[in-house]
Amino acid sequence: MLIIQDVLIHDDVVQEKFLCQLDACQGACCWEGDWGAPLEAEEIPILVELLDRIRPYLTPEGRAVIEEKGPAVYYEEPGEYGTSLLDNGACSFLTYNALGIAQCGIEQAYNDGAVDFKKPISCHLYPIRIHTNPEVNFEALNYDRWDICSAACSNGAKAKLPLYRFAREALIRKYGEEFYEELDAAAQHLEK
Ligand code: SF4
Repeated sequence: MLIIQDVLIHDDVVQEKFLCQLDACQGACCWEGDWGAPLEAEEIPILVELLDRIRPYLTPEGRAVIEEKGPAVYYEEPGEYGTSLLDNGACSFLTYNALGIAQCGIEQAYNDGAVDFKKPISCHLYPIRIHTNPEVNFEALNYDRWDICSAACSNGAKAKLPLYRFAREALIRKYGEEFYEELDAAAQHLEK
């Protein structure tokens, strides 16, 4: 376990290897699972505000669900807000590329310059998950193991890419460059 700027980081985040292999998984994390992608409180009004610019990138089914339920729904069991879901359990922001691989509609709008919000930070960091307990000021980063990502594990091992480096851009977006540099230095020290 590492502690960087009061954030606990599980050894797996530093030691495990990971590199998404979309031709194997087809982007299954966008449609598998019981709840929508976790949303931080400040992300909900951002999605509401950007919805008109994101809507053209979504499927008719996704647009209809967002019209009915909104972009965010409260899920009792995890006790948090997440993106709304289609009846088949897929994220309402899910789209597909020409090869049938799942893509995030928010990210497509971002890539086109239509919005300045890339996607929820939970999706950006995945398979790193943030666990918090604000009452005791506790925040931890854990590796969320999921069998749908098994190809990413062998791909990461082949590329010798540690999970935290795979998630570099998202970690910097969430915690800043200095945090990432400290984490990288600690990880390299441990490796010696
Ligand atoms: S996180 Fe897992 S399911 Fe999602 S794109 Fe990467 S390997 Fe595929």
